[in-house]
Amino acid sequence: MVPFITAWSSERAPGFAVVVRDGRIAYADETKRDRDGSGVLWTRKVFSPGVGVPQFKAVHPLRQRRAMERLLCQVCAKPCDKSAVWMLSQREYESAEGPWPAPVMTAHPPLCPGCVERATRLCPHLRNGYVILRPDRIAPAALTGVLYRPTPLGLTPTAATIAYDDPRTRWMRAVQLHVQLKDYTLVHPRDMNVTSPQKR
Ligand SMILES: [Zn+2]
Repeated sequence: MVPFITAWSSERAPGFAVVVRDGRIAYADETKRDRDGSGVLWTRKVFSPGVGVPQFKAVHPLRQRRAMERLLCQVCAKPCDKSAVWMLSQREYESAEGPWPAPVMTAHPPLCPGCVERATRLCPHLRNGYVILRPDRIAPAALTGVLYRPTPLGLTPTAATIAYDDPRTRWMRAVQLHVQLKDYTLVHPRDMNVTSPQKR
């Protein structure tokens, strides 16, 4: 089984030209589908899941964003709604914005309860321990991608992560959406039918 958000070898980046239009970056041949509901420009990738070889360390930008926006399970793509849980590696969990139970920011989309056990086997970053959170509130928090700086010689691109409400999002070609998990409860792996979570 290959997770829904995993990129495939056939999903290459098509050629593109970034231009400045109306005080923000744009594609020279932009279409409506290149921006999200907030007007952020997104990185283009061919959409052909299942074709070629799965790239387990890479995520497809559009499927990652859809999973976050619509709370789709990152493994099976089923809508999770209120049952959505997040599995975070111990390391990420420790990088929460403050002491427990401070909001946590993550680029990992949710999981449905039925895929929690599967995720412990499919996701390498969970192998050294994880926590399972069920949040009451989820909000868009940040964007990772390529930030363009206008200079007299043209646009200079740099990899960056900036806040979702940062005015520089108009200079960002996004790759991943991060969300903030607020008011969450900790779920015991046993309640998710995971038998020995720490031994994998
Ligand atoms: Zn699922």
